[in-house]
Amino acid sequence: MDEKADDPRSGDALNRPELSRTEVAYLGAIYRLNETHETASVSTLAKRFRVRLPTTIEVLDKLEQKRLVIKKPWKVPELSSRGLIIAEFVIHQHRVVELYFNSKLGLDSDLSCTEASKIDYLLDPAVVGKMCEVLNRPGQCLHGFPIQHRDD
Ligand SMILES: [Zn+2]
Ligand SMILES: [Zn+2]
Repeated sequence: MDEKADDPRSGDALNRPELSRTEVAYLGAIYRLNETHETASVSTLAKRFRVRLPTTIEVLDKLEQKRLVIKKPWKVPELSSRGLIIAEFVIHQHRVVELYFNSKLGLDSDLSCTEASKIDYLLDPAVVGKMCEVLNRPGQCLHGFPIQHRDD
């Protein structure tokens, strides 16, 4: 039995063509807004991605079709349990990679964050796991947010 294929935390699941970079970014954004107790409303997301409301609604509709986001009328979109797993995966990848760039390569925080965003979801979790080890499983990211590890 191939368990890895169904594991949304595996790189394979995230690299499946049906999940675009934009969709992954939205899952991460909803997660981060929840983390800081901000409302992940359609307008907040539209502002965050500097796009118009209909564009944001389109992305959220796609995520809902894939059962990663739950949208109820007049309610703020929420992550489904599978959406949350993918969001946690991407946030861990991002925070570890940017911290690695910053503390091991000496890149400044902004550059570390920007460059990490380009590859965080694409890197094999085993590679990021190695970076995480080298950093001694850090508890906080560059911006002071918690880094949750898979086996915490
Ligand atoms: Zn960042
Ligand atoms: Zn870790």
